[in-house]
Amino acid sequence: MAGSAQLVVVRYGAALGGTLAAVLLALVLQPTLDVSPFPIFLAAVTFSAWVGGMGPGLLATIGSVAMLDFLFFAPTFTLTVHYASDAVNLVVFAAVALLISSANARLRTARVRAEQVVEAQRDLERQKDEFLANVSHDLRTPLTAIKHSVEAILANEPKGTPEPFHDLFVNISESADRMAALVDDLLELTRLRAGKVRLQAAPADLRDVVRRAAGAIEPLASARGKRLELELPTDPLILSADAPRLERAPLNLVDNAQKHGRGVVRVRAVADGAQLVVSVTDDGPGIPASEQALIFERFYRADGARGRPGSGLGLPIARAFVELHGGRVWVESDPNAGSTFWIALPRESAV
Ligand code: ADP
Repeated sequence: MAGSAQLVVVRYGAALGGTLAAVLLALVLQPTLDVSPFPIFLAAVTFSAWVGGMGPGLLATIGSVAMLDFLFFAPTFTLTVHYASDAVNLVVFAAVALLISSANARLRTARVRAEQVVEAQRDLERQKDEFLANVSHDLRTPLTAIKHSVEAILANEPKGTPEPFHDLFVNISESADRMAALVDDLLELTRLRAGKVRLQAAPADLRDVVRRAAGAIEPLASARGKRLELELPTDPLILSADAPRLERAPLNLVDNAQKHGRGVVRVRAVADGAQLVVSVTDDGPGIPASEQALIFERFYRADGARGRPGSGLGLPIARAFVELHGGRVWVESDPNAGSTFWIALPRESAV
């Protein structure tokens, strides 16, 4: 309430201030340079309506007409006019000033609405983040209980347990693992978005980071009949990084590549001037240009990927970790010609 009263004072204060400035300027310029006072007062009206809207625009219009009449039209220092032409001039001025006020007031309303929409969107995002953080936190505890319980059952399974029961328990255990991974990703991403992740940087060899990421995915890839090919230089690729965290980026990219690719995934790392660059190339279906930016948004999954396991969190997490290291991630892809995901990191310490 106090804020809106303050705003009213500022808006009408601007109109009064603007009109007063026009009076002073017109008084100085009119006798010395023989400048018409009309444009000066129109500027004051425009300014008042732009800052304050219709009300202040009207106030400035009335003030300007009064001041023009009082100071510049005979008989001066009265609020009357002697010549009909002066009266016409003042009426035309008032009409133009009202038009300008109304146009500016509309622009101002549109501007204020746009700001409100942006603020409401920000608020919604904040609420969404909070909700996700709470939900994922609350899910973690019962999930751990399910996992421990089913593991205890599997470890103490009596001999002769029927096969279908055993399979069900294994299924519960694997599903709990998948869900825990998803919940962990959600927690990680909400912490990243809230700026709560602090990197522990140390000199690291990017070749090791890439090797470990590829090594973690290798068993899964070969179980699915895919091959990973690693091309790394003989010289070390040293940078300052929080290696375990940075590793999440190539890990998620290689995982995606083996998921979507048909046979071979190529993982390369090279030094390129002041940058170190990792690329992950697959021979999968590719990503249409219209979706290439969207896939880095959280929860976004391309049409073809819906209905398959996945959360739409892998790429946003990869991007967040790379950006925390001062780098960038992007994709180049032609539909039906596979995709290459790139990570570029500054050699010089960004963390
Ligand atoms: P997820 O893999 O869990 O769906 P990601 O954030 O890792 O989530 O990926 C988002 C979407 O981007 C995927 O659902 C898929 O549609 C698309 N995508 C990612 N990597 C590739 C790839 N190598 N080839 C084709 N599509 C991909």
